Amino acid sequence: MSVTVVRHPLLQHKLTHVRSATTTTDNFRRLVREIAAMLAYEVTRDLPTELVEVTTPIAACRSPVISGKKLCLVSILRAGNGMLDGMIDLLPGARVGHIGLYRDPQTLAPVEYYFKLPEDIGQRRVIVVDPMLATGNSAVAALGRLKVAGATSLELVNLLAAPEGIRTVQAAHPDVPITVAAIDERLDEQGYIVPGLGDAGDRLYGTR
Ligand code: URA
Repeated sequence: MSVTVVRHPLLQHKLTHVRSATTTTDNFRRLVREIAAMLAYEVTRDLPTELVEVTTPIAACRSPVISGKKLCLVSILRAGNGMLDGMIDLLPGARVGHIGLYRDPQTLAPVEYYFKLPEDIGQRRVIVVDPMLATGNSAVAALGRLKVAGATSLELVNLLAAPEGIRTVQAAHPDVPITVAAIDERLDEQGYIVPGLGDAGDRLYGTR
């Protein structure tokens, strides 16, 4: 399935500031939110529309509104929440699910500690958000768990991806399109994306 890199200059400008080690926690949080809104704009380009009657102060006309499957945003905790607000700014009617996964520091394998979704997940177009697609292990686990829960229409949206993470997700979930703001060089020996932006969760919440 496809990988889309969103190269809009505004987004790329903000991403550069997000990468910088000198960006403060409040600016980091605001920028991630703004980039997430732009990514939401891009991934919803193909939403179907239908024409409805509307009366302007001048005349009646037919004009498009969104139709088709409703949306569900799913955040991979905790860093995914940093993207959620920007996405909700643009998609205020979307339902929201949460998947809690942490990386075992030794094996880098994902361990689930929280899982909550809307009941009608099978009827929704599901957009999974996590700033960093690093090893891909968390994304693979989250997507697998969502499929078991009944999700049939899934896509993944990240700020940054490593080539290794993209390969891992594509191998496990070839049906899931991926949208990112950039694909970086590689992972380091601790599983961090190089050059990346550091630990997204720590930078969002100022925990280190
Ligand atoms: N998670 C992060 O927050 N940063 C990385 O570089 C990789 C995984």
